[in-house]
Amino acid sequence: MSLRSRLTTAFLVVVLGPVLVGAVFVAAVMSHLADSRGEALADSAVTMVDSTLGTICERIQASAAAVALNYRSGGEANAAEMAQLVVDRSVVDGVVFSSIAAAGREGGTDIGVEAPEGSWVDCGETAAYAGADPIVALGAQAEVRNTDGSTAAFSAFRVVDQEFLGRLARVADADIILQDSRSDPLEAGGADAGRWDYSDSFLPLSIGTVATDVTPMYWTLAAMVTASAVCAVGLAAWLARSTTRPLAELSAAAERVSEGDLNVRVPVHGRDEVAQLALTFNRMTAQTQAYVQALTASRDQMRGQLGRLGQTLTATLDLDRILEVILDTAMVTAGAEAGVIMLVDVDDADQLRERAGEGDLGLDQPASIRLGEGIVGAIAAGGVPAHGRIVDGKFEDRVRADTEPDARTIAAVPFRGRQPVDMLGGRPEADYGAPRTDAGVLGVLVLYNRVAGEDFEPGDVDTLRTFAGQASVAVENVLLHRQAERLSLTDPLTGLWNYRFMQTSLRREAERCRRYQRPSALLAIDLDRFKDVNDTYGHPVGDQVLIELARRITAQIREVDLAFRHGGEEFMVLLPETDAVGASVVAERLGRAVNVRGFKVNDASGGRELNVTVSIGVAVLGEHADTATGVLAAADEALYAAKAAGRDTWRVAV
Ligand code: GH3
Ligand code: MG
Ligand code: MG
Repeated sequence: MSLRSRLTTAFLVVVLGPVLVGAVFVAAVMSHLADSRGEALADSAVTMVDSTLGTICERIQASAAAVALNYRSGGEANAAEMAQLVVDRSVVDGVVFSSIAAAGREGGTDIGVEAPEGSWVDCGETAAYAGADPIVALGAQAEVRNTDGSTAAFSAFRVVDQEFLGRLARVADADIILQDSRSDPLEAGGADAGRWDYSDSFLPLSIGTVATDVTPMYWTLAAMVTASAVCAVGLAAWLARSTTRPLAELSAAAERVSEGDLNVRVPVHGRDEVAQLALTFNRMTAQTQAYVQALTASRDQMRGQLGRLGQTLTATLDLDRILEVILDTAMVTAGAEAGVIMLVDVDDADQLRERAGEGDLGLDQPASIRLGEGIVGAIAAGGVPAHGRIVDGKFEDRVRADTEPDARTIAAVPFRGRQPVDMLGGRPEADYGAPRTDAGVLGVLVLYNRVAGEDFEPGDVDTLRTFAGQASVAVENVLLHRQAERLSLTDPLTGLWNYRFMQTSLRREAERCRRYQRPSALLAIDLDRFKDVNDTYGHPVGDQVLIELARRITAQIREVDLAFRHGGEEFMVLLPETDAVGASVVAERLGRAVNVRGFKVNDASGGRELNVTVSIGVAVLGEHADTATGVLAAADEALYAAKAAGRDTWRVAV
């Protein structure tokens, strides 16, 4: 049974039940009242008829007696006089004188109307009428015994006819029917009788009185009950509908929400409790929708970030870019306002320097801090992730350093590499990222100020660990890559750039010189009589000389200059932005650096010092040649010139 039909039924029972009970009660009361009123009317009519007839009878009897008394005292004349009097006074209709033997008259003198033919009812007799003739009169007889012993009888009477009944009916306010043997009984009265009673105290009479007809009232009552039933049904239907419709709408809306449609809203009718429920439902759905939208947006953002991260990790070896994307993704994932990835400094393993930073950290320059110092330095040195709130510049027992941002919350995850330190040894001169500290820490990923003022959670730290792992892999990959790259471009014996790299560099430099019209000098360096060294002391000693020479060359040139091992015992030095004059100065200085003191070498017989000299040829891009091969050839030519000039000297190409 639905709620709607339950409500309808309950309302109908509550409203219609009392109405029906009341209607039945009213009908019963009405019927009872009508019955008792009819009964009372009938009783009073019967009583009235009886008493009227009684009075009439008494008067008839009295009249007969009076006539008889007068007869006795004054003879027939007196009797007749008396009879005339009672007839005149309308006490009776007539008096019949009978059996007056003394007067010698049979049948006597009748006074008043003529005695009617038919059955008379004697007022003195109590026996019910049972005659075969129609009743025509109501009479009474009085007898007087004459002196001669005869009996004189006087009968006074009232004619029982239509008029008599009419008077009786008027007095009793009833319809009256004389129940005698007439085939067409006498009737009188206009009471429009609905109820009939019978009386035979003097005359056999049917007495009809008005009966209250309650049928119209019943109809009215029924109509009222029907009308209220119709109203009640309508009202119940409306009530049930108005109550259940919002619920049905709510349930339909909830159904749609459960199917994932969060755009649905319930119409709000009025201000009742159900309307409140609808309002709350709408608010709840709107909030859920906003939440889902936010979640979807952040998921999409996350997807984008992860896609970007994946692409970046696979497509580039640009460490800064990788770290930037890792930091971005970590910030989006953990919901941080700012963040920084710091790596251990190349030149100072105790120093952490910012390599990627996002958000306003309120610092003038890239963040940097010593290991163990401040909050981040302490966390990095400890190698254990930490997160929490910074209160009054303090995080747990660590005090914020001046170089650290003034943040509310922090989550920091140090990361370390997996490769053995040795593999990354033999550090190249360029800044390749991070070396390792003794603790193996490569760097630290730090997030500041979780959005909406919340604290970072352990879950965030777990996420950050993943990103920190990515960062460490990225750093290591880049280090390994650069290591491999470096190995492929350097000479394993001397550590100088190899022939391949020299060609690349020379081509690039030639291009640059052509474009910017800038000079660049190339020095070709060859050991003098090196074959003798090898022949005398052996190849290993020769190699030691080569290594020492490379060291002395590197020490004499600038950071921007490049030294190559051309092959064998021949070396090249590329001096960007240097003309022939400048290059000559360098050549002179290099020659001096080589011959100024002996080369310490070791062989099987022990250590010794060898006097070594070099010859140098100088050629300048843009002056002696415009191409890489051209300048190489020119430098070689100049070198031969130097050799020809007696060695341990330098010559400029012509
Ligand atoms: P100069 O240049 O003065 O004319 O005489 P040189 O004896 O140095 O002659 P050259 O430049 O032709 O020398 C070539 C020698 O260099 C041959 C070889 O013994 C030596 N050499 C070349 N490569 C190496 C190397 O890798 N290690 C050692 N130990 N010696 C090498
Ligand atoms: Mg040579
Ligand atoms: Mg040589």
